[in-house]
Amino acid sequence: MMKAAFPGSFDPPTLGHVNIIQRAAGIFDELAVVVAENRLKKYLFSARERIDLVTGLVKPWKNVSVALCKGLIVDFLKDRDIPILLRGVRGTGDFSYEFDLSMMNRALDPGIETLFMTTDPDYFVLRSSAIKELASFHGDVSSMVPPEVAKALKEKFG
Ligand code: ADP
Repeated sequence: MMKAAFPGSFDPPTLGHVNIIQRAAGIFDELAVVVAENRLKKYLFSARERIDLVTGLVKPWKNVSVALCKGLIVDFLKDRDIPILLRGVRGTGDFSYEFDLSMMNRALDPGIETLFMTTDPDYFVLRSSAIKELASFHGDVSSMVPPEVAKALKEKFG
Protein backbone atom coordinates (compact mmCIF):
# COMPACT_ATOMS: atom_id res chain seq x y z
CA MET A 1 0.00 0.00 0.00
CA MET A 2 1.66 3.20 -1.21
CA LYS A 3 0.36 6.31 0.52
CA ALA A 4 1.24 9.93 -0.31
CA ALA A 5 0.18 13.37 0.82
CA PHE A 6 -0.10 16.47 -1.35
CA PRO A 7 -0.03 19.50 0.97
CA GLY A 8 -0.63 23.11 0.04
CA SER A 9 -2.54 26.28 0.71
CA PHE A 10 -5.10 25.71 -2.07
CA ASP A 11 -6.13 29.35 -1.71
CA PRO A 12 -7.91 28.68 -4.01
CA PRO A 13 -7.37 25.31 -5.74
CA THR A 14 -6.59 25.69 -9.46
CA LEU A 15 -6.65 23.41 -12.50
CA GLY A 16 -2.91 22.97 -11.92
CA HIS A 17 -3.57 21.47 -8.48
CA VAL A 18 -6.32 19.26 -9.90
CA ASN A 19 -3.96 18.01 -12.61
CA ILE A 20 -1.36 16.98 -10.01
CA ILE A 21 -4.08 15.29 -7.91
CA GLN A 22 -5.43 13.39 -10.93
CA ARG A 23 -2.00 12.14 -11.95
CA ALA A 24 -0.97 11.27 -8.38
CA ALA A 25 -4.26 9.41 -7.81
CA GLY A 26 -3.22 7.13 -10.66
CA ILE A 27 0.17 6.40 -9.10
CA PHE A 28 -0.49 6.04 -5.37
CA ASP A 29 -2.96 3.69 -3.69
CA GLU A 30 -4.06 6.48 -1.37
CA LEU A 31 -3.57 10.22 -1.70
CA ALA A 32 -4.34 12.71 1.07
CA VAL A 33 -4.73 16.29 -0.12
CA VAL A 34 -3.71 18.32 2.91
CA VAL A 35 -5.00 21.85 3.30
CA ALA A 36 -2.49 23.78 5.35
CA GLU A 37 -3.42 26.41 7.92
CA ASN A 38 -0.34 28.47 8.74
CA ARG A 39 -0.71 31.23 11.30
CA LEU A 40 1.83 33.39 9.47
CA LYS A 41 -0.03 33.26 6.16
CA LYS A 42 -2.92 35.43 5.14
CA TYR A 43 -5.57 33.53 3.20
CA LEU A 44 -8.44 34.77 1.04
CA PHE A 45 -10.49 31.63 1.76
CA SER A 46 -10.88 30.24 5.28
CA ALA A 47 -9.64 26.72 6.04
CA ARG A 48 -13.26 25.51 5.98
CA GLU A 49 -13.86 27.10 2.58
CA ARG A 50 -10.63 25.66 1.14
CA ILE A 51 -11.44 22.20 2.48
CA ASP A 52 -14.96 22.37 1.02
CA LEU A 53 -13.65 23.48 -2.38
CA VAL A 54 -10.97 20.77 -2.49
CA THR A 55 -13.42 18.11 -1.24
CA GLY A 56 -15.78 18.94 -4.13
CA LEU A 57 -12.93 18.69 -6.64
CA VAL A 58 -11.55 15.32 -5.54
CA LYS A 59 -14.93 13.53 -5.69
CA PRO A 60 -14.04 11.71 -8.96
CA TRP A 61 -11.21 9.81 -7.23
CA LYS A 62 -12.18 7.20 -4.65
CA ASN A 63 -8.60 6.93 -3.33
CA VAL A 64 -8.23 10.66 -2.59
CA SER A 65 -9.12 12.16 0.78
CA VAL A 66 -8.89 15.70 2.16
CA ALA A 67 -7.54 16.75 5.55
CA LEU A 68 -6.56 19.87 7.45
CA CYS A 69 -3.08 20.38 8.92
CA LYS A 70 -2.44 23.18 11.40
CA GLY A 71 1.02 22.05 12.46
CA LEU A 72 4.16 20.67 10.87
CA ILE A 73 3.47 18.67 7.75
CA VAL A 74 6.11 16.06 8.61
CA ASP A 75 4.36 15.42 11.95
CA PHE A 76 1.05 15.12 10.14
CA LEU A 77 2.49 12.51 7.76
CA LYS A 78 4.24 10.57 10.51
CA ASP A 79 1.08 10.39 12.65
CA ARG A 80 -0.78 8.85 9.70
CA ASP A 81 2.02 6.56 8.47
CA ILE A 82 2.27 8.40 5.15
CA PRO A 83 5.89 8.17 3.92
CA ILE A 84 5.66 10.38 0.82
CA LEU A 85 5.23 14.12 0.63
CA LEU A 86 4.33 15.16 -2.92
CA ARG A 87 4.87 18.67 -4.25
CA GLY A 88 4.22 20.13 -7.69
CA VAL A 89 6.80 22.20 -9.55
CA ARG A 90 6.05 24.67 -12.31
CA GLY A 91 9.61 25.64 -13.12
CA THR A 92 13.04 26.40 -11.76
CA GLY A 93 11.72 29.14 -9.46
CA ASP A 94 9.38 26.68 -7.77
CA PHE A 95 12.09 24.05 -7.71
CA SER A 96 14.56 26.22 -5.84
CA TYR A 97 11.95 27.00 -3.16
CA GLU A 98 10.70 23.42 -3.02
CA PHE A 99 14.24 22.06 -2.79
CA ASP A 100 15.00 24.19 0.29
CA LEU A 101 11.69 23.17 1.85
CA SER A 102 12.43 19.49 1.21
CA MET A 103 15.86 19.85 2.88
CA MET A 104 14.20 21.37 5.93
CA ASN A 105 11.59 18.63 6.07
CA ARG A 106 14.28 15.98 5.63
CA ALA A 107 16.19 17.44 8.57
CA LEU A 108 13.01 17.33 10.64
CA ASP A 109 12.17 13.75 9.64
CA PRO A 110 14.48 11.75 7.36
CA GLY A 111 11.84 9.01 7.20
CA ILE A 112 9.67 11.12 4.93
CA GLU A 113 10.56 11.32 1.26
CA THR A 114 9.67 14.42 -0.75
CA LEU A 115 8.79 13.66 -4.37
CA PHE A 116 8.29 16.31 -7.04
CA MET A 117 5.85 16.11 -9.89
CA THR A 118 6.39 18.53 -12.76
CA THR A 119 3.43 20.49 -13.97
CA ASP A 120 1.66 19.72 -17.20
CA PRO A 121 2.59 22.46 -19.72
CA ASP A 122 -1.10 23.41 -19.95
CA TYR A 123 -0.99 24.56 -16.33
CA PHE A 124 2.47 25.90 -15.74
CA VAL A 125 1.40 29.54 -15.60
CA LEU A 126 -1.36 28.88 -13.07
CA ARG A 127 -0.66 30.35 -9.67
CA SER A 128 -3.27 30.89 -6.94
CA SER A 129 -1.89 34.34 -6.05
CA ALA A 130 -2.12 35.64 -9.65
CA ILE A 131 -5.58 34.13 -10.07
CA LYS A 132 -6.80 35.90 -6.90
CA GLU A 133 -5.41 39.18 -8.18
CA LEU A 134 -7.07 38.73 -11.56
CA ALA A 135 -10.38 37.80 -9.91
CA SER A 136 -10.17 40.88 -7.67
CA PHE A 137 -10.22 42.99 -10.85
CA HIS A 138 -13.17 40.91 -12.09
CA GLY A 139 -10.99 39.30 -14.78
CA ASP A 140 -12.06 36.03 -16.38
CA VAL A 141 -10.52 33.10 -14.50
CA SER A 142 -12.73 30.42 -16.04
CA SER A 143 -9.86 28.77 -17.95
CA MET A 144 -7.69 28.59 -14.82
CA VAL A 145 -9.88 27.17 -12.09
CA PRO A 146 -12.77 24.69 -11.90
CA PRO A 147 -16.26 26.28 -12.20
CA GLU A 148 -16.96 25.91 -8.44
CA VAL A 149 -13.81 27.90 -7.67
CA ALA A 150 -14.63 30.58 -10.26
CA LYS A 151 -18.02 30.94 -8.55
CA ALA A 152 -16.45 31.19 -5.09
CA LEU A 153 -14.02 33.86 -6.33
CA LYS A 154 -16.90 35.82 -7.85
CA GLU A 155 -18.73 35.72 -4.52
CA LYS A 156 -15.62 36.91 -2.65
CA PHE A 157 -15.05 39.88 -4.91
CA GLY A 158 -18.68 40.80 -5.46
P1 ADP B 1 1.90 26.44 -0.87
O1 ADP B 1 1.52 27.70 -0.14
O2 ADP B 1 2.18 25.28 0.05
O3 ADP B 1 2.96 26.62 -1.93
P2 ADP B 1 0.00 26.12 -3.06
O4 ADP B 1 -1.46 25.85 -2.97
O5 ADP B 1 0.42 27.38 -3.72
O6 ADP B 1 0.55 26.00 -1.59
O7 ADP B 1 0.71 24.93 -3.83
C1 ADP B 1 0.62 23.60 -3.36
C2 ADP B 1 1.49 22.70 -4.22
O8 ADP B 1 0.97 22.68 -5.55
C3 ADP B 1 2.93 23.21 -4.37
O9 ADP B 1 3.79 22.10 -4.43
C4 ADP B 1 2.90 23.95 -5.68
O10 ADP B 1 4.18 24.00 -6.28
C5 ADP B 1 1.95 23.07 -6.47
N1 ADP B 1 1.31 23.79 -7.56
C6 ADP B 1 0.62 24.94 -7.50
N2 ADP B 1 0.17 25.30 -8.73
C7 ADP B 1 0.62 24.35 -9.59
C8 ADP B 1 0.53 24.15 -11.02
N3 ADP B 1 -0.10 25.03 -11.79
N4 ADP B 1 1.12 23.06 -11.54
C9 ADP B 1 1.78 22.19 -10.74
N5 ADP B 1 1.91 22.32 -9.41
C10 ADP B 1 1.34 23.38 -8.84
